[in-house]
Amino acid sequence: MKKVCRKCKIFVDKEVCPICGGNQFTNTWKGRIAILNSEKSEIAKKLEIKKDGEYAIKIR
Ligand SMILES: [Zn+2]
Repeated sequence: MKKVCRKCKIFVDKEVCPICGGNQFTNTWKGRIAILNSEKSEIAKKLEIKKDGEYAIKIR
């Protein structure tokens, strides 16, 4: 099962987050969103996402 970086909210399948290098993860979230064009996406801007990928929303 995938986990989510608490800081970046990106889905991670490795031991550390590929964005921040952290290892604080959560397994609880309420939804997911795919960011494909982070530089132009309004949603990405709102969520402060700077890298394309799959993100969780409403993590605990
Ligand atoms: Zn991270």
